[in-house]
Amino acid sequence: MEKLNFLTAGIPLKSTPRTYKKAFDDLDTMGLNGIEIEFVRGVNISAQNIKEVQELSQPKEMVLTAHAPFFVNLNSQEKEKIDASIARVIETARMAKTLGLYSIVFHAAYYMGMSSEDTYKKVQEGFSKIMQVVYDEDINVFVRPETTGKATQWGDLDEVIRISKEFKQVLPCIDFSHLYARTIGQNNTYDEFCRIIETIGKELGDYALNNFHAHVAGIEFTAKGEKKHLNLLESEFNYKELLKAMKKFDIKGVVVCESPSIEDDAKILSDYYNSL
Ligand SMILES: [Zn+2]
Repeated sequence: MEKLNFLTAGIPLKSTPRTYKKAFDDLDTMGLNGIEIEFVRGVNISAQNIKEVQELSQPKEMVLTAHAPFFVNLNSQEKEKIDASIARVIETARMAKTLGLYSIVFHAAYYMGMSSEDTYKKVQEGFSKIMQVVYDEDINVFVRPETTGKATQWGDLDEVIRISKEFKQVLPCIDFSHLYARTIGQNNTYDEFCRIIETIGKELGDYALNNFHAHVAGIEFTAKGEKKHLNLLESEFNYKELLKAMKKFDIKGVVVCESPSIEDDAKILSDYYNSL
């Protein structure tokens, strides 16, 4: 990627009608750079929307990504559920090819009371099945396990880095707000953000820093981790220090804003980043 792009998680709330054509116009006016398409309840998109994304995203210089369905658990105790999870990610990857997306992201698994190591083996098996299809069908998209917000969910920083080392086209989606909530308030200072980015660069190379995918939102957490997303200005999450760290390391790729006010907070992030 050439630069750091700021995306909304879904079509901007204010875009009416709810079309990609209108969304791209609104993002353009706000100086924002694209959308993470939310396939969180299933890979559903109308033929008209597919056409608009295919025809307009390039001329409008919009960067698009997708969030795969939430119902994914590569460590389920039921084989049918694992197969259905793999199928959902593959379906998202195929749609990514149709739409010309940069990345797809998903929450890979729950520990289900198992150790990190045993869970890792199941996640690894799932990834090999997913990536086999991605390679066989020449799907040129990054497939990204996301850092998760709760201690019951597989996906701390080390785990997503480890799986990324094993497969071509797999790189992490670093949800910084999740890392903050998951560790009950750590990972919220400039030094900590720098350390996270440094670790990724050291373990996965500059390639990972030049093709980055971050999620950012205000967030509320309890002792169990993530509770709910908040707007940036209602949360203690230190987005300014994060953006300073991203600037220092000259990160390129996308920052997807997942606050409730998706476009207003994406604009806050983009404006602050551009002021640095
Ligand atoms: Zn997510």
